[in-house]
Amino acid sequence: MSNVVTRFAPSPTGFLHIGSARTALFNWLFARNQGGKFLLRIEDTDRKRYSPEAVEAIYDGMRWLGLDWDEEPISQFSRVDRHAKVAHELLTNGAAYKCYSTKEEIDAFRTAARAAKRPPLFRSPWRDADSTAPDVPYVVRLKAPREGETTIIDQVQGSVTWKNETLDDMILLRSDGTPTYMLAVVVDDHDMGVTHVIRGDDHLTNAARQSLIYKGMGWDLPIYAHIPLIHGPDGAKLSKRHGALGVDAYRDMGYLPAAMRNYLARLGWSHGDDDFFTTQQAVEWFSLDKIGKSPARFDFKKLENLSGQHIRATDNVELLQEIEKFVASQHLPELTQRHREMFISGMDSIKERAKTLPELMDIAYYFLGERPFKPDAKAGHFMNTVSRGMLNRLTSRLRTVTWSLEELEAVIRDFAEVEDLKLGKVAQPLRVALTGRTVSPSVFDMMVQLGKDECIARLEDASR
Ligand code: GLU
Repeated sequence: MSNVVTRFAPSPTGFLHIGSARTALFNWLFARNQGGKFLLRIEDTDRKRYSPEAVEAIYDGMRWLGLDWDEEPISQFSRVDRHAKVAHELLTNGAAYKCYSTKEEIDAFRTAARAAKRPPLFRSPWRDADSTAPDVPYVVRLKAPREGETTIIDQVQGSVTWKNETLDDMILLRSDGTPTYMLAVVVDDHDMGVTHVIRGDDHLTNAARQSLIYKGMGWDLPIYAHIPLIHGPDGAKLSKRHGALGVDAYRDMGYLPAAMRNYLARLGWSHGDDDFFTTQQAVEWFSLDKIGKSPARFDFKKLENLSGQHIRATDNVELLQEIEKFVASQHLPELTQRHREMFISGMDSIKERAKTLPELMDIAYYFLGERPFKPDAKAGHFMNTVSRGMLNRLTSRLRTVTWSLEELEAVIRDFAEVEDLKLGKVAQPLRVALTGRTVSPSVFDMMVQLGKDECIARLEDASR
């Protein structure tokens, strides 16, 4: 095992957002590629929004996506004492100071700064005060450098520099003694031994500010990789309409987790021109230098297309397991033993055209549905008096057939000739009689699969 440690640090909002899922996937792929560890930290310090269900929703999303994490997930909230301890160490070593300024004083400072057209960053008078502390509440602030520059070397964004005069003395500990988010992230990443921080580029400026805390403690910086956020197909920020949903919504739409991993990996990362790949290939190929610098665009068409390819590439027994998981997640009626057998024997032709699991199940209607198979709206006109008569004569012939594919084909072709009809003029009413629909897998394959008794029974239903 290498010493690489990545982490995914979601805030429990109630679901695993598709953008966060991609961040999780990149961290997972990198850790697995490197033979390192992938850790999970729940950023649950906002107690007003906290609920165990929201945390469970993250685990669920991760499990569905197949992103397994190492070790017990860390609760950020459980570590507040440690965060406070670090703030006090920073006080002791002079990298932080106690600030007694009140809210009113800070507001007055900002108003005056704006009036004088100076930057509104608060400059605390306590930064260099050597007077002893008054007996009033204080916050702990980082003593950030005011001159010079701070540079972050980022694996995706390259070298990015901030003027220190734009970085303020951020609060590390609030007056009630609770740590701020900025402090908690640094202390946790350090204590968890995180070597690579891979996250959305909305955190890039945080990296600059957080690096000052690392410096204050004399800790080594992790390697940063800030990935561009996902945009909609029109280039605008991803919205619900574009697909900014939780991963559970994609599970409900019936995409395979493997297809989702493939698609999310391609959102911002590339391996040559490869669009379709397996998870194992992605693990083998993944590297930070192939993450793109410009925002990826979410594209449902591409997702559907990859999903169809994954359905076809999935082994039939495994695909049946995916169908059963989907059925359970959607609270649909459980498959019977016969359904399972029919899926396995018919899967090669069923999976030919399906892009999602519901589409697959729709194609399997010819055995998931129940007799009698009444013609649907599009199929009704095939069941007129003429075709009924024709089907009756066909049924009589079929009673004598032993039901191999070759024999069925020969008999039905011969029947069409005798009736002076094109094969399609027999096959289409036959399909409607057998399934109630105008679209199904090949009639001959289906008849062999359904068996003689079932087919004759359905033809009898249709003639009534
Ligand atoms: N909890 C943060 C978020 O959900 C992630 C922080 C980080 O990755 O450093 O955006």
